[in-house]
Amino acid sequence: MTRTTEPKPYKVFQRKQLDKIEQIKVLPREQREALDAVSAVFPFRVNGYVIDELIDWSKVPDDPMFQLTFPQRGMLETRDFDKMMRLVRRGATDEEIKNAARRIQMKMNPHPAGQIELNVPRLDEQQLKGMQHKYRETVLFFPAQGQTCHAYCTYCFRWAQFVGIDELKFVEREADTLVRYLRRHPEASDVLFTGGDPMVMSTKVMRRYVEPLIHSGVESLRTIRFGTKAPAYWPYRFTHGPDADDLMRMFEEIVASGRHVAVMAHFSHPRELETEVAQQAVRRILSTGATVRCQAPLIRHVNDDPGAWASMWQRQVELGAVPYYMFVERDTGARNYFEVPLARALEIFNAAYSSVSGLARTVRGPSMSATPGKVLIDGVVHVGDEKLFALKFLQGRNPRWSNRVFYAKFDPGAVWLDDLVPAFGEDEFFFEHYLDELHRRRAESASEPDDVQDTIAAQA
Ligand SMILES: *Cc1c(COP(=O)(O)O)cnc(C)c1O
Repeated sequence: MTRTTEPKPYKVFQRKQLDKIEQIKVLPREQREALDAVSAVFPFRVNGYVIDELIDWSKVPDDPMFQLTFPQRGMLETRDFDKMMRLVRRGATDEEIKNAARRIQMKMNPHPAGQIELNVPRLDEQQLKGMQHKYRETVLFFPAQGQTCHAYCTYCFRWAQFVGIDELKFVEREADTLVRYLRRHPEASDVLFTGGDPMVMSTKVMRRYVEPLIHSGVESLRTIRFGTKAPAYWPYRFTHGPDADDLMRMFEEIVASGRHVAVMAHFSHPRELETEVAQQAVRRILSTGATVRCQAPLIRHVNDDPGAWASMWQRQVELGAVPYYMFVERDTGARNYFEVPLARALEIFNAAYSSVSGLARTVRGPSMSATPGKVLIDGVVHVGDEKLFALKFLQGRNPRWSNRVFYAKFDPGAVWLDDLVPAFGEDEFFFEHYLDELHRRRAESASEPDDVQDTIAAQA
């Protein structure tokens, strides 16, 4: 890898510019056509830094950073892949390709984990599509200008936002809506700016959302988080130029208001932390008084290897960042290609966890962000004759579930919470009744979500 710190101009490549990428030009024709076909279905966007500094082209197609950013043929079922290939080869119109792609996209569970039905909050009877409020303490905010990324991950669970399934899009334009919502909800101590990637916004635009929060005296708001992959995909966002400088000032201003700034950095592979500029980015963020907490899903073909996680966590600690979560790949998009069974995920986590010092063991996982909450696969245990998964809520849709342990039958092939069966011959998990009730009341749409939460919590 070259170790440059000087940015080349930011240059983006999408499907229409595939043949402008020098390293792609030399691939066999079959492989180029496959890329063209698959990237018509999945969002594709990559930039010059990812291409030149992160991908090891001598190892393509197996290179993990190539798997992470270039759509792969295995992401489509054979029938769908053949169909798209035929269209590409016979030079079908954009319209034909788009229609065929849309039919395939709609089969892939575009919004998993009840995000629309259950997480979208209301204010004065109005649905706030650009926000999600699932856990009491944390409100997710999707600024309209932050709904793209410096490059797209092939496994992205928000892929539906990027392929123009417009009616499903989460966005919000009004900073004022967020302030009003937070005033009404003093239980929310944290706001998480997310996307897409909020760091694609200029600092000037970001300030329009952030300044009202810190200047309007919403004292219950204590932490502002930014979910971002920019330290991995475009670290210059934090290191070079007036906009980066202004971003650092903005972090300092939030800190000066007495609040905490947490950059929730998405690092998938240790290589993303190997470049000089990525390390500079982390150091510079920390110099403002902000923290960097690191998280990523466990993905087959990308990071399904304990060594990758151990070296990533170790490097994060060396830089002063905090390993935070290892997630399980969600049940959406091309999950067949990327999924790792829960039992295997636990083995990888345990092998990595046991090979690093206690300072890196701030990480928790493997964790599923599922409909009832964030569920940790905590271990495999034997009780009597039964082999079980010990599971634990890290976050629950009902706040009382936090840290609650429960058990499921061990199943080596299970890849998600839905695949699991309760232990000890029980009919259902303890949270299922609550979720059914929540769905029912949301469908009736009779009461405000808070009332729903409170009344059901009182019954639980
Ligand atoms: C993970 C997550 C959060 C934040 O949870 P923490 O455990 O506090 O980091 C908030 N909202 C949603 C929907 C999440 O998935």
